[in-house]
Amino acid sequence: MRKKGSMTVAAIAAIWSSTTVLAAEVNVYSSRHYDTDTALYEEFTVASGIEVNLIEGKADELIERIKAEGANSPADVLMTVDAGRLHRAEDAAILQPISSADLDQRIPANLRHPDGLWYGLSQRVRGIVYARDRVDPGAIGSYEDLADPAWQGRICIRSSTNIYNQSLVASMIEAHGIEATEDWAKSLVANLARKPQGGDRDQIRAVAAGECDVAVVNHYYLVRLMTSDKAEDQQAAAAVGILFPNQDDRGAHANISGAGVVVTAPNRDNAVRFLEFLSTSEAQARFALSNHEYPAVEEVKLDPILADWGAFKKDSVNAAKLGAHNAEAVKLMDRAGWQ
Ligand code: FE
Repeated sequence: MRKKGSMTVAAIAAIWSSTTVLAAEVNVYSSRHYDTDTALYEEFTVASGIEVNLIEGKADELIERIKAEGANSPADVLMTVDAGRLHRAEDAAILQPISSADLDQRIPANLRHPDGLWYGLSQRVRGIVYARDRVDPGAIGSYEDLADPAWQGRICIRSSTNIYNQSLVASMIEAHGIEATEDWAKSLVANLARKPQGGDRDQIRAVAAGECDVAVVNHYYLVRLMTSDKAEDQQAAAAVGILFPNQDDRGAHANISGAGVVVTAPNRDNAVRFLEFLSTSEAQARFALSNHEYPAVEEVKLDPILADWGAFKKDSVNAAKLGAHNAEAVKLMDRAGWQ
């Protein structure tokens, strides 16, 4: 693994010594930035002889950068979080379909694009956290239940500009259609304890602080607070429980971290090999662990905290549908007054 532009003397010597073979490489544009991911990419290099050049940035900026670089883009792989963002990359026509028997066999069909434009590599679940001292988790069976007037003034959730919420709403559009989902969103907004603000961790802190009784958050933010060095984070985490709703119907809303091969990839075959490597059981466990996510490949060993939470049903809607309903979801949330 090396960052672009930091070629070592050894690497230069290797090119000098060989006039016919160029250094094998793969250029990965990633909005994930975990040290454990980096260690994993180094192992790919050891196993394959393919150097990984990592370019990190925010997802939307990376998509814009690849578009701007056009035919000359060095990007081989785009890696990002949320199916809604992968859909944006698809809309921008910067991904190409690939076919790989390994990937198709290992990654469940609902976690990959039907044409091979991208593959889910880990899963994140939008759970419901609740105040342990004020809420009976048995009172909430579903996201739909959060529309009940019993929750008036008691719910925290972040802004509708956040893609996690957009994808949650997209999953409800898929389940119920636009009209029913809009009614739900209006009732949810009427139940909010405060104007949407902050990130998912702030929603958990607000529940712990008594500002609201329940909040909708991606599960790994709770794990991050649980495993934080800061006493106040640990205290906030201890004050809440998490439940995964809709166990009697479609399952809890799950989204993905995923990656696709860029349409202009100069190292297409290496890019496919890189994705195949990330689908192996060993890589899957560690890739998921780096952000306390659920692996895409089901039989892989779980993060100990997630293992402790136990098994539950996840919505098996194809992640591509979340992107396909994104524009409708954004408009619907606006109409519902979700700020
Ligand atoms: Fe996140």
